[in-house]
Amino acid sequence: MRFDTLLVHEGQSSQPVTGDVVPPIHVATTFDRSPQDPVTRFYGRGENPTREALESCLAALEDAPFALTFSSGQAAAVAVLSLVPPGSKLVSSDDVYGGTYELFQTLGRFGIEVDYVDLADPERRDAAITPDVAMVWVETPTNPLLRIADIAAISARASDVGALVVVDNTFATPVSQQPLALGAQVSLYSTTKFIAGHSDVLGGALVYRDSALHERLLAHRSVTGAVPGALDCYLTHRGLKTLSLRFARQCANAASVAASLGESPFVGAVHYPGHSDHPQHDVAVRQMSSHGAMVSFAYLGDPETLLGGTRLFGAAVSLGAVRSLLALPASMSHRAIPRDDLLRRGVTDNLVRLSLGIEHPADLIDDLSAAMRAGMRGHAREGADRP
Ligand SMILES: *Cc1c(COP(=O)(O)O)cnc(C)c1O
Repeated sequence: MRFDTLLVHEGQSSQPVTGDVVPPIHVATTFDRSPQDPVTRFYGRGENPTREALESCLAALEDAPFALTFSSGQAAAVAVLSLVPPGSKLVSSDDVYGGTYELFQTLGRFGIEVDYVDLADPERRDAAITPDVAMVWVETPTNPLLRIADIAAISARASDVGALVVVDNTFATPVSQQPLALGAQVSLYSTTKFIAGHSDVLGGALVYRDSALHERLLAHRSVTGAVPGALDCYLTHRGLKTLSLRFARQCANAASVAASLGESPFVGAVHYPGHSDHPQHDVAVRQMSSHGAMVSFAYLGDPETLLGGTRLFGAAVSLGAVRSLLALPASMSHRAIPRDDLLRRGVTDNLVRLSLGIEHPADLIDDLSAAMRAGMRGHAREGADRP
């Protein structure tokens, strides 16, 4: 079956007794083990049929035998970080999700050193991946600057030194980017974002091919207990069925909005991998089947006025949902990162990040233009009032 068919069918077989075309939500926390029932499940922390249906679909989307879901993207990250031996080194994209950075801050007490590197730069990337590195953590496109790292090149280099490659594929989704096919060992998702897609359920997932890895990750999840509930799995799986359709519209909207931002007098640099002048546009074209649904840009007016001035764009963190969202990374999603670090990486106070939803693109452009114009007036007045 092809990708779009798998989205709808995998893990969704009709029920033998009742004929339901949608599998029921299994809420049982424990399973009958009387001798006449050949039961393979024991306890809900370890096994749950609703969770397994979602996992079989997520695995199939990357042609992988294994997927494990978690109560959040962060819980999935903690599980995969349990593979890094104490005292070793982790190389990470420098422009990384704020929560990932905060999580990495806690690794010091295990003696794990984190080296933040611009993995989009081939020279720095190759110099950083040395034999003492146990794991390379790749976020591509990065958040919020949408730089692109070459997953195949990183994976080749990492395999030379025996390091595992984990790709946070939350922004690209399996529709657009297949990290395992490019040589990475683990794809990580915050399913909270595009996979579930409606801003109404938290979740995380790991997708991978290695059975020894599966034993370790499954054991970690069972003992630490960060499993998603059955209703959450159901909602995530329900959202997943429309991922291709939603993402195609979201990407088209991102292209339209990025084009209009490029022509706006209120806008400085626009960060969008689909523009031919994006520094890693060629890598994006090679490893992604679309340019994604995220755009960021430097706004020349007052960012706070812009944040409060849109009607359609929600002023909120998070991304990937049917409703468009607008955020200021420096004061919202990335506020835990020291200001100097942010500025050094180009995350300025006026950097605006958009997550495009599925609304009509002309309405989104009108809404954004009106809010930007209002923010410019405020800004000009403020400037004029100053002595
Ligand atoms: C949101 C996000 C996470 C964390 O996921 P949660 O579901 O919020 O725990 C990790 N990586 C990226 C890129 C994200 O956007």
